[in-house]
Amino acid sequence: MEGIASFSCLIKQNAKFLGFNDCGISPVQHLEKEASRLKQWITSGLYGQMVYMAGHFDQRVNPGKLVPGAKSVISVLLNYYPADTQKDKEAPNISKYAYGHDYHKVIKNKLNKLLQFIRKTYPKVNGRFFIDSAPVMDKVWAARSGLGWIGKNTNLISRENGSFVFIGELIIDLELEYDIPEKDYCGTCTLCIDACPTGAIVKPYLLDARKCISYFTIEYKEELPSEMKGKFENWVFGCDICQDVCPWNLKCLPHDEPDFNPHPRLMEMSKDEWFNLSEEDYKEIFKNSAVRRTKYSGLKRNLDFIR
Ligand code: SF4
Ligand code: SF4
Repeated sequence: MEGIASFSCLIKQNAKFLGFNDCGISPVQHLEKEASRLKQWITSGLYGQMVYMAGHFDQRVNPGKLVPGAKSVISVLLNYYPADTQKDKEAPNISKYAYGHDYHKVIKNKLNKLLQFIRKTYPKVNGRFFIDSAPVMDKVWAARSGLGWIGKNTNLISRENGSFVFIGELIIDLELEYDIPEKDYCGTCTLCIDACPTGAIVKPYLLDARKCISYFTIEYKEELPSEMKGKFENWVFGCDICQDVCPWNLKCLPHDEPDFNPHPRLMEMSKDEWFNLSEEDYKEIFKNSAVRRTKYSGLKRNLDFIR
């Protein structure tokens, strides 16, 4: 057991060395409680057009179905809180997570290095890393690994890093020493629920994605519904309101990941420049950004909607 404990410490040290802000480990288990909540969420259709959220149910609640013989989930956090925000306060907003390069590649690269580190000691370890790329309940695993709790706004909140963090996982078939889940520190606070302009947090810990600005500006593929007109508060890709108001984000420190630094023009763009954004400029400014997900036409649709 002592060997397992010290190797688990080494994994966490290596994760920090690779630039992750935190790392925790939990045992692979069937997510019984979460399975019934998820089933309810799916049955009530709260996922809207995100049909992929309703699929792969068995894998979602049991990582053993993704990695044969899976024993441990190693969860990592990577801070993306930016040093600066957009200069023109009247300009359309994009979510902070999309300021820099698409995070998938950055985190996959680091997780792959973490897996290689483990294989130096245990060459036969079988494992896979995940970052939004497969049906893994990342927030649940991060909370079980002691990295934070799932707040009333349904984001993972870390006491040390706040909620502007990406979550990744490495699922492996090696037994390790496990962490204790974090407590819920939301208390009596309801700031996120009160601040949401569309009432998408329908009750504490329950998000109706069909009302969320993030969903409309990124996932929704049709013409935006007229009843949402005037409610987007300048957001054209994602929405950070329920995180910006969270007291646990008051002391966020800026990230030190060069790949997350924004294109300099993004920070400088005035309101007028945003509304006159050409396809050529879109391609340059968002070259490696998650904003590419909406394509130029989607971003234009969102801009027209808030104009
Ligand atoms: S992201 Fe915006 S719209 Fe969605 S729940 Fe949070 S505050 Fe509401
Ligand atoms: S704003 Fe308050 S209630 Fe909402 S997630 Fe943060 S601490 Fe929890």
